[in-house]
Amino acid sequence: MIRFFIIISLVVASLCAQTLTFGVFTYRAPEKILKEYQPIANYLSRELNATVVIKPLSQENLEREVHEGKIDIIATNPTHYLSLRTQGKTTGAIATLIKRQGEITTSHLGGVIISSANRGDIRTIDDLKNKTIAIPGKKFLGGYQTQAYELLLNGMDVQHNVQTRTLKNHEAVVQSVLSGHTDAGFIRTGILEEMVRDHALNLDQLFIINEQHFRDFPFKISTRLYPEWSVVTKQELPSATVAKIAIALYGYHSHEEGNDVISGFTIPGDYEEVDDLARMLRIPPYNYAPSFTLRDIWNQYRIAILIVSTLTFIFILILSWMVRKMHFQKAYVRSILDASPNPMILTDKEHLIDTNKALLKLLGYPSLEALKSEHTCICDFFEEGETNEYLLPMMDDQTWVEYVLEHPEREHKVKITIGGEIALFKVDASMVGSIKETRAIVVFTDISLMMSQSTTDALTGIANRTHFNLIFEHTLHASRRGEGDLSIVFFDIDHFKNINDTYGHLVGDDVLRHIASLAKSTLRKSDIIARWGGEEFILLLPNTPLSSAAWVAENLRERIDNEPFDIVGHITCSFGVCTLCENEGADEFLYRVDELLYQAKESGRNRVVIG
Ligand code: GH3
Ligand code: MG
Ligand code: MG
Repeated sequence: MIRFFIIISLVVASLCAQTLTFGVFTYRAPEKILKEYQPIANYLSRELNATVVIKPLSQENLEREVHEGKIDIIATNPTHYLSLRTQGKTTGAIATLIKRQGEITTSHLGGVIISSANRGDIRTIDDLKNKTIAIPGKKFLGGYQTQAYELLLNGMDVQHNVQTRTLKNHEAVVQSVLSGHTDAGFIRTGILEEMVRDHALNLDQLFIINEQHFRDFPFKISTRLYPEWSVVTKQELPSATVAKIAIALYGYHSHEEGNDVISGFTIPGDYEEVDDLARMLRIPPYNYAPSFTLRDIWNQYRIAILIVSTLTFIFILILSWMVRKMHFQKAYVRSILDASPNPMILTDKEHLIDTNKALLKLLGYPSLEALKSEHTCICDFFEEGETNEYLLPMMDDQTWVEYVLEHPEREHKVKITIGGEIALFKVDASMVGSIKETRAIVVFTDISLMMSQSTTDALTGIANRTHFNLIFEHTLHASRRGEGDLSIVFFDIDHFKNINDTYGHLVGDDVLRHIASLAKSTLRKSDIIARWGGEEFILLLPNTPLSSAAWVAENLRERIDNEPFDIVGHITCSFGVCTLCENEGADEFLYRVDELLYQAKESGRNRVVIG
């Protein structure tokens, strides 16, 4: 029906000389809008000598049709006017509406915040916190936005600090507050007075929160004052036409009685306050952050950008210098490690982390990865010696690295067999300071040659007396712990002085070498032979009772007796043999065997005397 009416109006209008379409924001039923604005359309048609057609439209449709150039005159609320203005298709406001409420007329509006007179707990804006508030709709300037802005200026955000409930109209909001369904309500100015006139309300039933008083403004109000709806025209209309429209509007006076009716138009109000409100509430056209161009940013922050970019540049320079320095230091340390002839490892005191080339070469691995794939600890290669002088993987419940670190005053050695050859290493360890004492560098120094020189007799190649003493001590303890009988054989070449005197020292040396190798060849692997000094030798026979030791000595005596020595021919030796007694000390033991040898000499030489 309404559509039909509009279409007929438009058709009729199109037949006339000039048709002006008057778009009105439909904040209530379209037929009400048509009824309200038709007298104005008629008046304007007469005054302008044109056909003015009213077209009620929602805000969205109004904007679209304005954009398409279909609307010539527009009446809408102040916040929507701001939004329209940004499209650039309209003039500024040419008039502001004057509204009548009964006897009273005003060109301003505002918002009222109400609570029930019974609710003593809701008397200020602060009291609204976390309360439920009835509203007629969020697009209403007087019914929501003015109050939301007022709350915001008091530090309260409507979105988060209160709960809003949208009801069907202003009257419903008042009823909801009175009935206690909601704690408070937002309504447009003039509504209360209208309801009082209609005998629908007694003002004593309500409390006006944050009540304001403005001269010449006749209604209860809780917010600041804003201009009423504005009228704007299409940008393309000739200015003479716009002026005619404005003058015609200012001359319009309605004597129609009733509430909320348009009684006339006045010069445009100040919409600045509405602009601030829209900006603060982030409603259109301020619901988007403004878009900046790079030039805007440059113009605004030029100095800051220059300072920040210079500092960033310096920072990057320093950083790259530090990174290069770190790389250099790493490479530097690597080359020092790899240049060292001493095998080295980096360890977390338990597992292998890194090695140098010398260690890989020693163990015969092409790379660290290859070594790590087979061994997590270098201690896998450590071997036990005859004595407990060498490090083992675990030492007194500590890892070997921890043990070395804890006893820096001691000399630590390891024995490693590589390709059938025994190698001895001195071990030194130190913490790597920077990594919170969790890692240690271990350096291995090859002492194989030094050790063999200090433990071997240079002339005969068998153990010297120092080495013998070391092993003797250890074997003595083992025997005392019940690990079998320990016997010793002490022997001395008979009349050796004569050999030297007769054939010279070099021949004497040959004889010493010959006897040493002969004696060595008669022994078991576990037996030890050492040169005691001069032409005296000693045999250490672990796990050997006296009878067996006597047999060893007698066997050796016989072999020497029957051996044809170069140049010298026949040589004999005298032997003393004894077995360690219970509670016997090392010195006593050695003294006893020396005595037995002496007895062998005394009793005619080339014989074995058993103790
Ligand atoms: P006895 O049967 O009583 O043992 O008589 P001996 O001549 O063997 O004993 P003596 O202690 O009188 O002489 C030992 C000699 O051994 C004296 C020394 O010159 C010689 N001698 C000691 N060390 C060496 C050595 O390294 N080389 C050579 N050629 N002779 C040595
Ligand atoms: Mg002798
Ligand atoms: Mg001698």
